[in-house]
Amino acid sequence: MVIGLAATVTVFACAGAQLSCDKSGSGNGITPTAASSSTAKLPVVDVPPDGKKFDPPIQPKQVPAGAWYCDMGTVHWAQMKQGNGTCPICKMDLKQRK
Ligand SMILES: [Zn+2]
Repeated sequence: MVIGLAATVTVFACAGAQLSCDKSGSGNGITPTAASSSTAKLPVVDVPPDGKKFDPPIQPKQVPAGAWYCDMGTVHWAQMKQGNGTCPICKMDLKQRK
């Protein structure tokens, strides 16, 4: 009965804490990974003026507005200046993020 008691104490502690326990419901301390995490808003990346290689690649919507980036479905290169307008990695034309 020690396990049952511990679980009860955990639930009780959660009820008072109101931090991460609200979402878990069962009070087992493991917050379920949100099913919507793949559609969650992705952070906009920081792109230096001279450009940056992204490995692993990022999503186009993570490129800041006005930056130039190589769009191959995902983005492995972005830069803030147009420069010569081509990707230094694959030589494709860069697109400007609107
Ligand atoms: Zn490229």
